[in-house]
Amino acid sequence: MKDIPNLFGSLVFNDSVMKARLPKETYKKLKNTIQAGKSLDLEVANVVANAMKDWAIEKGATHYTHWFQPMTGVTAEKHDSFISPDKDGSIIMEFSGKELVQGEPDASSFPSGGLRATFEARGYTAWDPTSYAFIKDGTLCIPTAFCSYSGEALDKKTPVLRSMQALNKQALRILKLFGKDEVKKVITTVGPEQEYFLVDKEMYEKRPDLVFCGRTLFGARPPKGQEMEDHYFGTIKPRVSAYMKELEEELWKLGVLAKTKHNEVAPAQHELAPIFNTTNIATDHNQLTMELMKSIANKHGLACLLHEKPFAGVNGSGKHNNWSISTDTGVNLLEPGDTPSENAQFLLFLSAVIKAVDDYQDLLRVSVASAGNDHRLGANEAPPAIVSMFLGDELTDIITAIENGTNYIDKGKSEMEIGVRVLPKFFKDTTDRNRTSPFAFTGNKFEFRMLGSTFSIAGPNIILNTIVAEELRQFADILEKSNNFDEDLNTLIKNTIRDHKKIIFNGNNYSDDWIQEAEKRGLLNLKTTPDALPYFIHSKNIELFTKHHVFSESELYSRYEILMENYCKTIHIEALTMIDIVKKFIIPSVLSYQGEIAGIANSKKQLNPTLQCELEEKLLHDLSRLGNYLYAKLDTLETSVLNAKNHSDLLESSKYYRESIFINMQHLRGVVDELETLIGKDHWALPTYGELLFSVN
Ligand code: ADP
Ligand code: MG
Repeated sequence: MKDIPNLFGSLVFNDSVMKARLPKETYKKLKNTIQAGKSLDLEVANVVANAMKDWAIEKGATHYTHWFQPMTGVTAEKHDSFISPDKDGSIIMEFSGKELVQGEPDASSFPSGGLRATFEARGYTAWDPTSYAFIKDGTLCIPTAFCSYSGEALDKKTPVLRSMQALNKQALRILKLFGKDEVKKVITTVGPEQEYFLVDKEMYEKRPDLVFCGRTLFGARPPKGQEMEDHYFGTIKPRVSAYMKELEEELWKLGVLAKTKHNEVAPAQHELAPIFNTTNIATDHNQLTMELMKSIANKHGLACLLHEKPFAGVNGSGKHNNWSISTDTGVNLLEPGDTPSENAQFLLFLSAVIKAVDDYQDLLRVSVASAGNDHRLGANEAPPAIVSMFLGDELTDIITAIENGTNYIDKGKSEMEIGVRVLPKFFKDTTDRNRTSPFAFTGNKFEFRMLGSTFSIAGPNIILNTIVAEELRQFADILEKSNNFDEDLNTLIKNTIRDHKKIIFNGNNYSDDWIQEAEKRGLLNLKTTPDALPYFIHSKNIELFTKHHVFSESELYSRYEILMENYCKTIHIEALTMIDIVKKFIIPSVLSYQGEIAGIANSKKQLNPTLQCELEEKLLHDLSRLGNYLYAKLDTLETSVLNAKNHSDLLESSKYYRESIFINMQHLRGVVDELETLIGKDHWALPTYGELLFSVN
């Protein structure tokens, strides 16, 4: 049995290592800087860097890197070794405070949207000392933010930190009104549940669509899919179990609190959930988790698929973003409290979230928009593209009572004191679990369930933090001016519920009735990425982000551009891959199988002209008919891809990719999948769905 407590965090330069290895004064100064969120003094940095280097070398590291999260969605690193030439021709191992605090990667090869044109190509990375350095693969990794020299954020991390600051500022104003002067800092916390598929690596490599696009572009349904519902929480197979064990151990070494693992709904689908952490750390850890999921799979002869929809006809993968707000005194602000005043405070924060989700449905939808996730949202396996929130019957009854000024009649459970005088009594944690809601209250946190499995959680949390910060700002503006706090608080909560309850829906989000009902309520239904993304740069949203210093206007436009381009490029690559596979694999299969059948029929006729050849003829007839279709659909797709360059406007272009190219891809796929059901196994070059989904034991 391994010594897990000792293993945990063994590759992290965490607080206890700092305490043990840094001179007392330096440790204190570093802690102060971290707590104050200020930049590090170079003298302190030099001492920290040296201690870090010694520690890393003891752990076998030879290199260091600034580890950052550019807009590509994956992490980036450029390794430098610690070596430095000494006078006598030998080397010494060095790492300076300057190297720790700031790096200068060339920014010009990372996506920057419009920013590259207007700003310098040079960028710099700056250590985020709230996220600990760690060792990965013999390299000391320093979590950093990535900015241009003019200070524009070029990464996903910087705006996360800014949005946390925005929320901290506004939440502190509210807490002050409740007399919570002891609270010095408010943070948001996130626990992201991560879904993924595991397939055999050899088979994966035989599928260019998986290799280039991360999802299958073809594949007839296997005789068995997920209909028996026998995979969810099923026994984990030995090969998968060995993989999960190693994954967990490696994550523990990196201080990632990997906690829960189980089989998911679809065959070959699994999930890993960590214990929640501060948002910026959770963001780093989720990136590390996805990276290790892939690299460790490789070691086990497996391929880990993180795509939102690797297989048609079975569930795709998502990520559940469990989100809450906490104080540095350890209080979860989204947890109903024990005293009337705490419950009033809880209801105020709850109202802020309700109003935020309603006012900024568009942004929440934008934050989960991508070509991959378009396959899931609204497709009866994931929440719809309509944003709404689930509060559960109990809490809904409570806020209805508040709105109507009536007494809340309890329905059992432990009774809690509530209210600033007029607010009703209510009960703790009796929330139902509604699995279909995009945004569900689950007792002491919200679970945002629309994220795709490949997503960095940065984007959705930047939005969540910022929109709630804005509502808290509005509330604080009103309440700070109040002469009668209790009464004004009550009115504020009441009015907020009245004006925003349309966003609350506790029923089945997968039903068609809901789509109609949502339309009646005036909720947005932004079905695809090109429908959603333009909202990112609407004036109300530009105002929001600039007001809270989360994005400048140019940063916002650059992100919009990157997301739009990403959408078009993804479909472009998929279309080209499809065309290539049809030409190199499918057409040769169709022809060789027809050749074999024709050969058999010919031989039979030669041997004895009276022998029946109905089977051969029928098959040849069907294959020829489908072969003609195949050719026609291929031709249409090729033409539509060629015409893509005629659209220079980004929005127009993205719509063209959706409405023309994507649709033509589906038509081509339809023909290929039908051909697959007719063609003999030996003639079909691609591993089938059955083989991919049921091969790992
Ligand atoms: P589910 O029932 O949705 O599968 P899990 O128990 O698998 O839920 O995951 C719940 C997630 O929510 C875990 O990652 C957990 O750490 C996280 N969580 C719990 N409390 C909080 C909180 N206060 N803030 C953020 N996340 C939290
Ligand atoms: Mg969940």
